[in-house]
Parts: sequence; C-alpha cells; structure tokens
Amino acid sequence: MRRRTTTVRRYGDLTSAQVGSTVEGSTLVWAVGGLEQHGPHLPLSVDHDIPSAIAEEVAAALDGYLLPSQPISARSLPQSGGGLHLPGTVHLRGTTLVEYLTDCLRGLSELRPGRLVIINGHYENEGLLFEAIDGCRPTDLFRDTVILAASWWSFVHGSFLARELPDFPGWHAEHAGLTETSLMLYLRPDTVRASRPGHDTPPLAGVYVHPLDVSRMSNQGVLSSTEGASADLGERLFWHVVDNVCELVRSGYGVPREGLVTADRAEGRP
Ligand SMILES: [Zn+2]
Repeated sequence: MRRRTTTVRRYGDLTSAQVGSTVEGSTLVWAVGGLEQHGPHLPLSVDHDIPSAIAEEVAAALDGYLLPSQPISARSLPQSGGGLHLPGTVHLRGTTLVEYLTDCLRGLSELRPGRLVIINGHYENEGLLFEAIDGCRPTDLFRDTVILAASWWSFVHGSFLARELPDFPGWHAEHAGLTETSLMLYLRPDTVRASRPGHDTPPLAGVYVHPLDVSRMSNQGVLSSTEGASADLGERLFWHVVDNVCELVRSGYGVPREGLVTADRAEGRP
C-alpha cells in the first residue's frame, strides 16, 4: 500500500513575516471543494475531502505549499448533484462564487507564487472557477504565475475508465456513485455508511428539464451505480489522479515556450 504524505508544508502555518519571501516563486496548491448532499451513504464533505487529499499529495510531491481548502461550493444541480431539494447543501450563487474566488485569487497574486495548482472537487464549480481565473487576466494579476486549474476527474485517463469502470455513466452522474464512494472508502472509510443505493437511469449529461421530476433524477441523491465500490478501487483512482496532476504540472503543460509571457504582454499591452 502506498503511504500518504505526513510532511506537507501548509501555507497557513507560515507567519506574515515569512510568507512574502517563502511563497514568491514557489508552488501553491489549493483545493476548491463543496458542502453538498451525497446520498444516504456519504457525508456532506465529499467534494471537499477528495480534492483536499489530492491537493495534499500534490503539494508534497511538488515541494509546494498547501492552502486551506475552500469549503463552500456552487449550487447543486439535479442532474449533476441531486439538487437543492435534498437537505445539507450549502451553496454560493454563481455570481457570488466568482466574486469570492476572484478576491481570493487577487490576494494570492500579490504573493507572486511561481505556480498555482487548483484542484476542484464539485462538478458545478468548474465553469465558475475558470471564469474567476480568466477574469484576473485583463487586470494583469498573476503576471509571474503559471496557473493550472482542473477538476480532479479531468486527470482520469480514458484507459483507466475502460479498465476499471466499464459502465461509466459520465462524470456528471458519478455524484455519490462508484468513484466518489470508492475514493471515500479509501480516504475516510469511517464516514461511509453501509447501505449504498444505486440509480439505474442516470440523468443525461448537459440536459436540464423543467418541471423537474426529482424522483426520476436520482435515488435519494445518488445519480448512478455504487455497485462494486471498494477501497481498493478508490486507492488506485486516487494515486492515478495524483500522479497525473504531478506529471502534467512537471511537463510544463500550458506554459508559454519562451518563458512566462501573458497574452497581454505578447500583444504589447502594458
Ligand atoms: Zn461529489
């Protein structure tokens, strides 16, 4: 069994006097999570716990600093999160979340990290997170920082899915399904309840309907099958994602070939 890190350096442990020289040019890793219902068998913290654990390993492997995870997420939607009729979800409206993330990013940019890696764990956060990052560009924040932001499932290769999840329903429908259940069985088994309902008719990806028949969209907040969930699968998936994040970051993916040249600079804007 591969050991999880116990030596990650935490941004929050630094003092104000230390943080400037320590963080400038270094790598920061940030998990953006959520607090959302995940069926009767998983805790509300799934979308926070999974990216937090991944971010911790990535920060340790890249010799970076781990930021405290962002705990509250975007609105839960019926076809990707079960919806707000199921109790437990605490959310920010999209406009609020973009503003919130923008303010956080503004603060981080002043520290001039060399690299910011953001791992998202809540499906509906993704577009809003990207919008907040993209919105920083015209203001010329992060002039000297390479940012790589993605949802953790974006690092799962097709070959892994074909081998391990032959009946994969799509990431939108993996909410409280096989992958999240397996990851939680590996990461926090004490929080996973024994009864694990599945849902035979996962919602279609990218289709919203009104009026909504919530009884057909999920089974008690579970969107797809949980059959076959195991800590072993969770362990294989976890390290597959961690290794793929680190490999992509180390490969310099997205970094301009002639060093860090922002689009604004390339176009001659001040
Ligand atoms: Zn989730």
